[in-house]
Amino acid sequence: MSDKFDVVVIGAGPGGYVAAIRAAQLGLKTACVERYKGKEGKVALGGTCLNVGCIPSKALLDSSYKYHEAHEGFKVHGIDAPNVTIDVPTMIGRKDQIVKNLTGGVATLFKANGVTLLEGNGKLLSGKKVEVTGLDGNVQVVEAENVILASGSRPIDIPPAPVDQKVIVDSTGALEFQSVPKRLGVIGAGVIGLELGSVWARLGAEVTVLEALDKFLVAADEQVSKEAYKILSKQGLNIRMGARVTGSQVNGEEVTVNYTEAGEEKQITFDRLIVAVGRRPVTTDLLASDSGVESDERGYIYVDDHCATSVPGVFAIGDCVRGLMLAHKASEEGVMVAERIAGHKAQMNYDLVPSVIYTHPEIAWVGKTEQALKAEGVEVNVGTFPFAVSGRALAANDTAGFVKVVADAKTDRVLGVHVVGPSAAELVQQGAIAMEFGTSAEDLGMMVFSHPTLSEALHEAALAVNGHAIHAVNRKKR
Ligand code: FAD
Ligand code: AMP
Repeated sequence: MSDKFDVVVIGAGPGGYVAAIRAAQLGLKTACVERYKGKEGKVALGGTCLNVGCIPSKALLDSSYKYHEAHEGFKVHGIDAPNVTIDVPTMIGRKDQIVKNLTGGVATLFKANGVTLLEGNGKLLSGKKVEVTGLDGNVQVVEAENVILASGSRPIDIPPAPVDQKVIVDSTGALEFQSVPKRLGVIGAGVIGLELGSVWARLGAEVTVLEALDKFLVAADEQVSKEAYKILSKQGLNIRMGARVTGSQVNGEEVTVNYTEAGEEKQITFDRLIVAVGRRPVTTDLLASDSGVESDERGYIYVDDHCATSVPGVFAIGDCVRGLMLAHKASEEGVMVAERIAGHKAQMNYDLVPSVIYTHPEIAWVGKTEQALKAEGVEVNVGTFPFAVSGRALAANDTAGFVKVVADAKTDRVLGVHVVGPSAAELVQQGAIAMEFGTSAEDLGMMVFSHPTLSEALHEAALAVNGHAIHAVNRKKR
């Protein structure tokens, strides 16, 4: 038995590393256990998000968008770029460098804040002890007043398409292609499937997305999901709804996929196949059989609204617990738990966790959809504003989509902001800030927005809730 810590965090993803830094800032003696080895064979902090998730996918989305714009978007501005080529290994190398900088940055923050890094596999034993098996096999046990489990998630595997990381890859493998596949299949039209499909489609791959459900983006507002489906299909993504993959055979450098669509058995052959059917928590081997922490049959650790588990002093956050599998949700839970351990009364507002899909245009929302509110019996007023009439969007030649504001018909309080369009993620964040302060559509409408900005579309959509939009014809006149 060696050190005793106030807080030991298992996992250094956006949940765990943020919790560790905040705990250390609050004067708690803190350690964080991490086992993940990066490309250089050394422990790399930052979890899924920094190493193989949010950041590398956005790096490739940004690179591929620039290429796509040079090919398709420049002409309208009178710019002729006839010899634009893509060097995929350079693009992947740039992505790797960003990952290296950011994961190294977390290590620097640990040092600066006095967080002790314990390299190796962490396991929660009974009595808030944590066994750490180092990468060299050495085992040490550390004691903690409080333990935060932040072990994250990994891609779900499905038997019909076993991942070999060569021809059939998961999201991690899809960030490593060294050339553009001619025919690319994607199983799953969720966030990850659409983002990774977009990267390779922009670089010239013929992309087919097979999705078992009949309805596209079920969590999004229906008006948004319909528009997004139209826009993405027009871009060339062949999104087949109601297409359930039932089997696959790899033959050398290609894979033939069997699927059922409208009751018919079908086959299609690809050069690469990305399996993006969701993620599941990483909790096997995390908990000793007598740890006392309970999880459900899928491995999600049971927690209350403050992320406390069934064992006093043991908390769990991020992708390994209920709720949206998003980095910012994990981080805010980390802050909440660290602050509660330090005796503060921190809370998290789960109703206002924004969701974003980083396609182009982006798709983002916060709060409730019009359909969910109506199903709950809430009477709503809705205002929308299309980017097609936004001066800023026209100037940028980026006019697809709209902003939609949903407000309570009785109180005018904004209950949801839904955007498909340029910079949707940033616009929705403005909605989230406004909603956190309980704003009404009228309040938003009374604010001064800079001209010309994309944000004016949010302003106009808020005005449209009460029939006062200036730059669009109002559905209702008031
Ligand atoms: P993770 O980030 O999964 O971190 C958990 C860490 O714990 C890992 O480093 C793991 O090695 C470590 N660990 C696990 N068990 C142990 C153990 N026993 N001992 C030691 N260490 C252990 N979210 C967004 O919000 N925005 C996005 O744009 C976005 N894009 C994504 C794109 C892709 C391709 C993917 C795959 C995910 C994306 N996500 C995005 C989701 C996001 O990455 C996760 O929600 C987030 O990383 C969850 O954070 P976490 O800290 O809970 O877990
Ligand atoms: P998400 O959970 O948002 O990452 O999305 C994953 C998607 O994959 C879901 O919409 C599932 O319906 C879809 N999916 C899961 N299994 C299959 C399958 N066998 N064939 C096609 N789509 C699938």
